[in-house]
Formats: sequence, structure tokens, C-alpha cells
Amino acid sequence: MDNKLVPVTQPYLPPLDEFLPYLEQIWERKWVTNNGPFHEMLEAQLCEYLGVEHLSLFSNGTLALITALQAMKITGEVITTPFSFVATTHALHWNGITPVFADIDPDTMNIDPTKIEAAITPKTTAILPVHVYGNPCAVEEIERIADNYGLRVLYDAAHAFGVKRHGRSVLEFGDMSVLSFHGTKVFNTFEGGAIICRDAKTKRRIDHLKNFGFVDEVTVVGPGINGKMNEVQAAFGLLQLKHIDHILAERARINERYRLAFQNVKGLRMLDVPPYCTRNYSYVPLRIEREFPVSRDALYDEMRAQKIAARRYFYPLISEFPTYRGLPSASQANLPVATEISRQVLCLPIFPGLAMRTQDKIIDIVLAAAGLQQYAS
Ligand SMILES: *Cc1c(COP(=O)(O)O)cnc(C)c1O
Repeated sequence: MDNKLVPVTQPYLPPLDEFLPYLEQIWERKWVTNNGPFHEMLEAQLCEYLGVEHLSLFSNGTLALITALQAMKITGEVITTPFSFVATTHALHWNGITPVFADIDPDTMNIDPTKIEAAITPKTTAILPVHVYGNPCAVEEIERIADNYGLRVLYDAAHAFGVKRHGRSVLEFGDMSVLSFHGTKVFNTFEGGAIICRDAKTKRRIDHLKNFGFVDEVTVVGPGINGKMNEVQAAFGLLQLKHIDHILAERARINERYRLAFQNVKGLRMLDVPPYCTRNYSYVPLRIEREFPVSRDALYDEMRAQKIAARRYFYPLISEFPTYRGLPSASQANLPVATEISRQVLCLPIFPGLAMRTQDKIIDIVLAAAGLQQYAS
């Protein structure tokens, strides 16, 4: 740990000798992509694990988002959150859709349903909310608004792998949900993603679209893309799924140590998730509020100086990037809550294998900034 930067997250890699038998099978079959046996197995096993019925694997989450919008034929304006990873809005841009940013809720940091309603125009066709940090959106209110105004709903669920709400998968809300299996996510296939949809016919359409639009050798039904997950990725996903309980338990344990250390510190705030939601601890967003003696950026700099790569997710806001900042909805006046929170959050390192003494060091840096006695010493 001495001279290397501690990352905010690290992919979980099972022992290599557990992966080799999968590779041997691929070498034997010489079936490397296009709905291979591992691809089909992973789709089935993920449906079972996640508690969903229709899931289509993708080579990454961004192509899954782009394809989901294509499959629903979304056009015009889509209401979305500026407080997310930039791919959320890029997926709209790549579809020629105008993003309309709505502000977020100060507690959940997810899109504020009352702000969605205010942003609807005759051109609005859909809502693209994000379950930020794996904390479910106000799915029932969003559903009510969508039903009232005849809008489609696509959830960016890149952070919400395995999350349940009242015992039901959060992926079952809206018309579709998209997962990411990027190396930085709770469940990873190096790169990867998936669309979860409501019925077999829609899944078939998505499966055609992710393979250039091919239905059979001579039939192309639409302007599809290449979004297919290959056999090596799928095999790794099957192996990763065998370790998911360990991954989640480790994350819960690490999160709890942070929570105990910071619970009584003035000016610090951890993510609060309602008791009826399960958690995957995909991130540890620590909010450095006004009462804290030092600023978020000062704490970030101090961590960097001490080789801790805490991350300011999500700063800048998507609405502050050059591609989007000219939009009327991108103004700070329209997004006061998101603007403030993007200047408060510091995501702390969490991943299986984070050494306890490294975590103690991270905690000590925060407590020292608060002028408090050190935790580990
Ligand atoms: C990671 C992420 C994506 C993009 O997923 P990729 O698999 O990296 O393409 C999209 N949205 C959010 C919120 C993400 O965190």
C-alpha cells in the first residue's frame, strides 16, 4: 500500500485456476461469440439471481442504454438527471434525443419526481432516471407520472445490481432497465451490460438490434448495432456469480466500518437507504456538508497527497460538460440541489480486498480533517 495509489474500487478477480476450465471449453468449442453456450447460461442465471424474467446481455452498459432507447423508438425530449455518470446523457445524444435535466432530491440524490412533472412539454416522450449509488428512485411516483402523461420509462440501473425493494427487484420497474458490468461495478465481466425488459417479444427485438438487426441469414429488421457480449466475458460472469455472496458481504462489512466511524461526526453524512430496500454498497458516497471544518475539495486533495484515490462522483454534473451546458435545462438556477451535492460528495474506496489498515488510514484522514482524535491509533 505504501507507494501505490489506493483506488476507489477494484474488480473482483477470482483465482485464475477457477477461470481456466471455462477458457478450455471455449477453445474446444471454437464458439467465441453470437449467443454461445456461456452467453445463454449467463442470461438464465442472471434472470434467476436478479429475480427478473427477460434479460439481454450486452458488450457494455452504454450500448445497452443506446439500444434500449432504439428499441422503444424514443424521440424528442427525455427528462433525466444531471447527477450521474456521463454515459446516461450520452445515450440520449447518440439517439438524437434532447436531454432535459431535472433537479434531484436532496436526500436520495435521485431525480426529484416533482421536478420531472414541471419539465414535461409536448415533446417529452420518456423519463431516464438513475438509481444513483444503487439507492432506488421514487419508482412509484415516477410510474404515476409516466402513466398520467403517457411517457415511457428507462431506468439506468448501472449501480443497482441485485437491489430489491419490498422484496421485488428494482429492475422490474419502468419499461426497461439497464445494468453495467464494467470492471468498476459490483458485478463485472470486465466490460459488459444488460437490458431488462418486460416481455419475450421485446427481448427478441432487443436481441435482433444488438446483432445488427439480423433475424436470420437474409433478414435485417432495423438499423441494429453490434452490442453482443462474447463468450469470454460471459464465462467470467458465470464465475463471478459464484462469488457474488462473498463480494456483497465484504462490501457490507467495509461500509459498516465507515458508518460506525463517521456516524457522530458533525458535517458528515452517509447515504441513507430506506429499510425496505436491500443494498449492494456499490459506492460509499460521503457528503461533506457546510458544518464540516474543511471543504470537500480540501479533503479530496489531502487524500490524494496520502495516496488515496477517493472520487468526486458526480462532479462536474453532466449538465456542466461542454456538450450539454448550452441547454436551457442545464442552468445552475434549474439545478440548485444537484449543483450543491456535486460539490459535497466524496466516494471512498470500497472493494473486496481493501485492507483493514488501509481503511483505517482513510478514516483517520477524515477524522483528522474534522479535528478529531484518530481512529486506528
Ligand atoms: C458505468 C455506468 C454507465 C456505463 O456503463 P458502461 O458499462 O461503462 O458502458 C452508465 N450509467 C451509469 C450510471 C454508470 O455508472
